[in-house]
Amino acid sequence: MGKEVNVTLNSKVLGKIKKGYPLLMKDSVTKMGNLEEGTILRLTDQQKQFVARGYYGKQNKGIGWVVSWKEKETINQAFIERKLKAAIQQRLHFYQSEDTTAFRVFNGEGDGFGGFTIDYFNGYYLIQWYSKGIYQFKEEIIASLKKLVDYKGIYQKKRFAQEGKYVEEDDFVAGKKAEFPLLVKENGVQFAIYLNEGAMVGVFLDQREVRKLIRDKYANGKRVLNTFSYTGAFSVFAASGGASHTTSVDLANRSLSKTIENFSINGIDYEAQDIIVEDVFNYFKFARKKELKFDMVVLDPPSFARSKKHTFSAAKDYKDLLKDTIAITEDNGVIVASTNCSTFDMKKFKGFIDTAFKESNGRYKLMEEFSLPEDFKTINQFKQGDYLKVVFIKKIK
Ligand code: SAH
Repeated sequence: MGKEVNVTLNSKVLGKIKKGYPLLMKDSVTKMGNLEEGTILRLTDQQKQFVARGYYGKQNKGIGWVVSWKEKETINQAFIERKLKAAIQQRLHFYQSEDTTAFRVFNGEGDGFGGFTIDYFNGYYLIQWYSKGIYQFKEEIIASLKKLVDYKGIYQKKRFAQEGKYVEEDDFVAGKKAEFPLLVKENGVQFAIYLNEGAMVGVFLDQREVRKLIRDKYANGKRVLNTFSYTGAFSVFAASGGASHTTSVDLANRSLSKTIENFSINGIDYEAQDIIVEDVFNYFKFARKKELKFDMVVLDPPSFARSKKHTFSAAKDYKDLLKDTIAITEDNGVIVASTNCSTFDMKKFKGFIDTAFKESNGRYKLMEEFSLPEDFKTINQFKQGDYLKVVFIKKIK
């Protein structure tokens, strides 16, 4: 673990940090020299009075995380163990569930230590490191995890810039290696997980409740279009809920075999479904030309995406994506609009929806609303941490 240095907080952020805001930005501190990633920061006010402790680790956003507000508290393995233990305690009902064997165990700053997450996949643990700085705590974090849980194996992903290529061997940490696909369950539905193929492992666990509601309340008898479908998770839940037909569209070649696999392990005939490898924006054009209509459309694009012909940015282009969708949605059909973009909030997202319907001369009713599920724990002091926004919208005549 890194050594400790004194750093002065900028008076502008002092109040916020004192109240528990955990993210350190470049301009949160004054005159910080060249520090090594993982250095522990003893944060003080201008009068050198202790305020909090954090660590230096450059991420997408920010230069580190505040983790303790008690002067006497040392950031060591015991500290990390306490955080992990509390997180595990709060997820005991997930561990006890037979229907769901994949969930988030530790959600970074939401569980008191920003920069890493831990997910559980049917006996295996996956740690994701988001900066070189947090990776300096690797030994303490892994030792704590080993002490606190029974595990078959532990895997990791380095989600920070690295030199060289992705090396599969780098991902395995301890225990025994899993055989892939590793099968997990979510509310009784199976998913094929690969912890050895790069950043995306096969499912986004934060959509669990959305998938369940689609299956239990919305899918029966419906023609469902799942765009940006990845491994087809929404399609599999829709089909399990009695959808008359599903169409999955994703640009990535891998999505075809992975979606077939997810249908198959759930006993659903994939040949009765459409799985299309194509740019969603082309598919919309095709669907309009052929006058195809759907009773339900799932929209879950990445925040940013670049294909050959298109650059998509959720903040700029979500409204137009909705307009394309409205055009191929049946009256009384439902659009599930989702985004994980953290640069705008729910209010703004609902604004995009409203404008899209106005510009389409359509009317709508908001049916359901979701943010992150409880295992993706967030804190009030850090609203951006709750990045997920999902709205079920009924198109009415
Ligand atoms: N909705 C999925 C997750 C989406 S991840 C789920 O819940 O599991 C984002 C996906 O969008 C990736 O699989 C990527 O291949 C796909 N994608 C990105 N740009 C695309 C485009 N223009 N057309 C189709 N798919 C695209």
